Amino acid sequence: MLKIFMGDMLYSGDGVGNRMCPMPVGFVAAFLEKRLGSAVDVRLFKRPDDLIEAADRENPDMIALSNYSWTHNLSSSLLRSFKEKNPNLITVMGGPNYPREMETQREFFHRNAGVDFHVYMEGEQGFLSLTERLIEAEGDLSRAQQGAVAGVHFLDRKTDSLVAGHFFDRLIELDEIPSPYLTGLMDPFLEMGLQPMIQTNRGCPFTCTFCVEGQAYHTKVRRFSLDRITAELEYIAERVTPEWSLSITDSNFGMYEQDIETCKVLRRLQDEYSWPFDIVVSSGKNRVDRVTECARLTRGALSISLQVQSMDDEVLKNIRRQNISVDGLKEAVENTQELSKTTRAFSAVIVPLPGETLDSHISGLKELVDMDMDYVCPFQLILLDDTEMSGTASRQEFQMVSKWRPVPNYYGEFGGVKALEMEEICVANSTFSYDDYLEARGLHFMMQCYHSDDAMLEIRHYLRLYGISPFDWIRKSQIEMPGAPESVRKIYDDFIEATGAELWDSREEATDFFRSADNIDLFVNGELGDNVLFKFRAICMTGAFRDFLDYGIGIATEMAVEGAPDSDAARIREEIGEVARYIYHKRRLPLDPTEIQSTVEEKFLHDMTAWEADRHTRPLSDYRWNEPVAVTFGYDEMQLNKLLHAYKQLGTSMQGIGMIVRKHNPLYFVRETARAGYYGIDVPVRASAS
Ligand code: SF4
Repeated sequence: MLKIFMGDMLYSGDGVGNRMCPMPVGFVAAFLEKRLGSAVDVRLFKRPDDLIEAADRENPDMIALSNYSWTHNLSSSLLRSFKEKNPNLITVMGGPNYPREMETQREFFHRNAGVDFHVYMEGEQGFLSLTERLIEAEGDLSRAQQGAVAGVHFLDRKTDSLVAGHFFDRLIELDEIPSPYLTGLMDPFLEMGLQPMIQTNRGCPFTCTFCVEGQAYHTKVRRFSLDRITAELEYIAERVTPEWSLSITDSNFGMYEQDIETCKVLRRLQDEYSWPFDIVVSSGKNRVDRVTECARLTRGALSISLQVQSMDDEVLKNIRRQNISVDGLKEAVENTQELSKTTRAFSAVIVPLPGETLDSHISGLKELVDMDMDYVCPFQLILLDDTEMSGTASRQEFQMVSKWRPVPNYYGEFGGVKALEMEEICVANSTFSYDDYLEARGLHFMMQCYHSDDAMLEIRHYLRLYGISPFDWIRKSQIEMPGAPESVRKIYDDFIEATGAELWDSREEATDFFRSADNIDLFVNGELGDNVLFKFRAICMTGAFRDFLDYGIGIATEMAVEGAPDSDAARIREEIGEVARYIYHKRRLPLDPTEIQSTVEEKFLHDMTAWEADRHTRPLSDYRWNEPVAVTFGYDEMQLNKLLHAYKQLGTSMQGIGMIVRKHNPLYFVRETARAGYYGIDVPVRASAS
């Protein structure tokens, strides 16, 4: 019997990292067990320390680890160290972070000396054929490498030549793969508190050149049956509590008829188990009607992701991407606002894509912000292995300049093995200079502070009532930063400096820096290696919230007063002052457990809760009271549990808060408000109504 250890490694040292159940390796393991039965003994791992301890104790025949851009170096370093301890061990990697061109595939094996085989493309069949070969070869590496293995690559180290077996067509009937949940393979990981993820289909019909799934190989969409998905969801629901999130890894969830049926199941589970109320998905690029129906069925648990990557037609042509139309985007945003207050419409842009200019990028952001998208996530262009974008031809055509940086939060030390992940990002191209890149990043930071997840929503809506573009307010706040108070300017400048400081010119330069024992400790100790954007956003949501709010409010007041008659100036100042206090108590994120559990009461001259209930569509002056009225701000039980669960899981350092903001829906962390007298006691009369 071949003893096989498989893993999807977790950088767990400081409580952050890829905290998901290892479902993809679970698929491969379940498929292998089904096909080979008692010929194999398979165990799964997530924590490197557990794997190291078990490998030392039990001496497996083969260790196979996943290869994603966020686990590559850790998997490779561990395999090398296992191989040093036991030269007879067979080592394998598999996953999408594998180069596309033959020469770079050879280089992959040179760089990863501890890796004997890499499974190519969809993993189940390739890993099965490799295991069969090893059984035939009685676990002997040189015998196993006599001839190509279907679905697998390896380097013949004697001749330095790549041996690439033909790859398999993708599985048509996905139910051929037993469920890693229903077979119990995921039980230990649910018990560890890792977030459940499911997959209802595989493949993507779109062809984006920056994405691994953009290749023709992935075009056809294959599905798991609804019965299977239902059984998995029920199995998970019985083992989690309501504050847990669910991740659905489909590339276009909500675009297909079956997704509606899946959402009906989710709705039933919400009724029976109060779970799931936070579902992380990438939703479909068209069929707004279906995506909206999915969000409605799940009571808004499922956010509507409307990734555009760019709003410029020329850029979209260059990356062979089709977006949902602008009208479709607007319709989806409006639909989202009807659903629930925690349902988000979010979009993403990537910068700098081929053909994008700073002006076209800014005008795309303006279009998205001003259509009231709840969140516009700015990604940098990561040059992923196995994508057309990272190929030589594309780099040359668009004169891409790239740099290397650590993957935020993915570093650690395990059993003497220190590792951190690096990724290659594009920072300039023929139409976008490095200075443009820094300017764009500064703007992204300001959007995180003033726009993302409805940060400061009320002031944006107030400005809109005066015909002022919320985006223009954000951009003006950036442009006028040199005159901002020191406390704000310093954070902005520190962000720009950190953005440049995380980059190295080449993989070799970055590797040399990290290989120095002292330098890697800077990451292991948490002094370097954060997600810069989210760490600084966390600062703005917590300790610096007041300073950024006051600065933004000052600019907003200036803009609103500028276009209004002098006689309105005092009223505008009073109203914006009230809006600022309301935002402060509602949207600042507290870290102190006592503060989290307490409520705050503040008096307002306007009926802020009614203005909010009317979605800020009428002038605030319509809501003025004759006398101030108290409003209470506090978290309800579900919010409290969710927040405390997130703090426990990821911590309250700025790095941890940054991760919480990335991995959870921050709209859950906006305090509930209630007007004094809401239940019929002492309700004063509105001035406008009297
Ligand atoms: S980016 Fe999304 S839509 Fe484009 S190919 Fe990848 S998965 Fe498909």
